[in-house]
Amino acid sequence: MISAPSSTKLPVVPRPARDERLSSWLNRLAQLYAMPTDVFLEHCGLSLRDATALEWRLGGGEGPILASLTGMTIEALRTMTFEEIAPHARRMVALGNRYVCRGCSPGIHRKRAAFPWNFWCREHDLRFDACGGRKLGEWLPETALTLLDFNAHDGAARLTDWAHGREDGVPSIPQLLDFLTTRHRRSSPPSLTEQPILSLAARRANHDFLTRPIARQALLIIVPEYDRVAPVLAKPVRAGLLSLTQGSLLQNYALAVGIGRLSADPVGYAASVLLASDGEGEQRLRQALQGWPLALRRRIYGRFQRLNGMGAQSGRGTAQSQKFRFTQSHIDARRIS
Ligand SMILES: [Zn+2]
Repeated sequence: MISAPSSTKLPVVPRPARDERLSSWLNRLAQLYAMPTDVFLEHCGLSLRDATALEWRLGGGEGPILASLTGMTIEALRTMTFEEIAPHARRMVALGNRYVCRGCSPGIHRKRAAFPWNFWCREHDLRFDACGGRKLGEWLPETALTLLDFNAHDGAARLTDWAHGREDGVPSIPQLLDFLTTRHRRSSPPSLTEQPILSLAARRANHDFLTRPIARQALLIIVPEYDRVAPVLAKPVRAGLLSLTQGSLLQNYALAVGIGRLSADPVGYAASVLLASDGEGEQRLRQALQGWPLALRRRIYGRFQRLNGMGAQSGRGTAQSQKFRFTQSHIDARRIS
């Protein structure tokens, strides 16, 4: 075991990995000196002995002490913290990796991997997997993911700007997430297409599952690809910003896609959700839209009325023809915008 002197430079200091967060590196240093991290930090003479807390501030002399012990500059240490993250986004930073990269060493936690909207490891050019090991490709084929990635990248870029306090677009990120997570229809039990094939006996045994009301949120209309593949009980996401902090890999990917799409075409997508809503859902959506700029809301309601009129003009047919009308109207609406 190498003993850690408390005031002079440590004899061995592994270099931080690219984009490694401070807590990850301090944990690795403590392991090297065979100490729990808090004991190691105490031994280093730091009054703040919580590696996670140090990621938010290197005040009180911690920066200079760590710099002299490790031979790093204070500036280099600061780049390993999250001090650039705006207070409103701090809850988005996970304590460790949110997802898993097959190529990264499990002991190295990078800053990018702490945020719910980063789905790719830049070091290995790989998609992150869920912590349980499931891959996005298990739900969506690679061809579909490649197309969805365009929207997910746009959404992630806006979220990154928002987290760094560089985002002043309207509707804001919290407003977009409020809209995406608003229930556009009343909750309903799993539809036939959402149910697994079950024998009569199994249907009886799973009565609770088959009759459980599932929240139907705007996200399902804006990202129908998610609606089609997400496990029915895990379709609903938490409301607003919590949707991202508490979301699974698949849910967060869908939310990033939704933000990308809503940012690119707020009128077309918001109107299409209104069109798919029921009476109470429409009221909830209008409430969620309250904070959006008035001119944008007028365009959304104008588009919604036109789409509604087109649906009424073409008559009330079968469920299939109504679905066709909805899809066609949405495509037309996007062409107009
Ligand atoms: Zn990696």
